[in-house]
Amino acid sequence: MYLESIYTQLIMEHNRSSHNRKALEDPDISERGYNPNCGDDIMLEVKVEDGIIADAGYSGVGCAISQASTSLMIDLIKGKSVDEASELADIFLAMIKKDITDEEELEVLEDSIIFQNISNMPARVKCAVLAWHSLKEGSKHI
Ligand SMILES: [Zn+2]
Repeated sequence: MYLESIYTQLIMEHNRSSHNRKALEDPDISERGYNPNCGDDIMLEVKVEDGIIADAGYSGVGCAISQASTSLMIDLIKGKSVDEASELADIFLAMIKKDITDEEELEVLEDSIIFQNISNMPARVKCAVLAWHSLKEGSKHI
C-alpha cells in the first residue's frame, strides 16, 4: 500500500508547520483524544465567541497522520459556527466509513479530503479520526 504523493506532501507540510500547535488561553472546548493503538495523545482546544470558532489549537504527541488530520481540521473549522464544525466532522467520519463517496459532497472538507482512502489502511483509521471525534465530543458541551 503506497501513499499518493499529494497525500504524503500534505501530511509532511502539516507536520512541519506548527501554526496550529499551540495552547489557548481559557478555551471553551478542551478535549483529549487518545488512541492507544498508535500512542496518539492529543489535546484539542477551541475558543468560541458568539457561537463561532474564533481560534483552535492542539498540543500533545501523535503520529504524522493524526497530527496532519488535526491540523487540517483546525484550518477547516476556524471561522465556522460550532454547529457547522460538528456537521463537517460528521461528513469527515462518513467519508472514512465510505458512507459518503460523492466527491462533490466531500468538497466542503477542503484539504481533509486527502484522508478519503485511509480506510485502505485500517491500522491508521483511528489516527485520522481522532481529532474529529474529539471535536464532536467537545462540541456537545458548548
Ligand atoms: Zn497514529
